[in-house]
Amino acid sequence: MAKVEGQVVEDEILDAEREARRRLALAQIRQYPDAALKMQARTVEDFDDELVDLVERMKRLMEEARGIGLAAPQVGVLRRVFVFTPRQGQVAAVINPEFSDASEETEISEEGCLSIQNVLVPIERPVRVTVSGKDERGKDVRYELDDIYARAAQHEGDHLDGVLIIDRTTPEARREALAILRPRIVIS
Ligand SMILES: [Zn+2]
Repeated sequence: MAKVEGQVVEDEILDAEREARRRLALAQIRQYPDAALKMQARTVEDFDDELVDLVERMKRLMEEARGIGLAAPQVGVLRRVFVFTPRQGQVAAVINPEFSDASEETEISEEGCLSIQNVLVPIERPVRVTVSGKDERGKDVRYELDDIYARAAQHEGDHLDGVLIIDRTTPEARREALAILRPRIVIS
């Protein structure tokens, strides 16, 4: 019994550490209404060490923040770069992504964003999609995606065009989300 209790305490310490790391990561991710989130990202021309470093940093932040995707504008870099989870347990970068073969079948699901905390809004997206581009070393990549993985890639692709979940959702959900996000002005 003592051993079990000790384990519980250890788990709690681990949870607290992970939560602290998550908060630190979120503090490094641009938050709505940061102007970078509304801007168009530019095509990557140079596959250099700087790009490799950017992707490494983004992968680390995404994992620490416990997201399934992160786009460069979310760290203030206006380049067409995102990292995401193409399948369980894997993290990959796509540079200059192009989307194709979107399924006619769509699904409405609640979506959140690391840059818009405490908001979940319903968004309709194709269930399946293919994304192709380059990895951070300039090698061709192509992912045929479905479900949550297809959703994550489309969400990150939107970020490169300055499109956020509140722009994609229903007018009603948008109004509710904006009410949560509106800075509270206190007049004393
Ligand atoms: Zn997002």
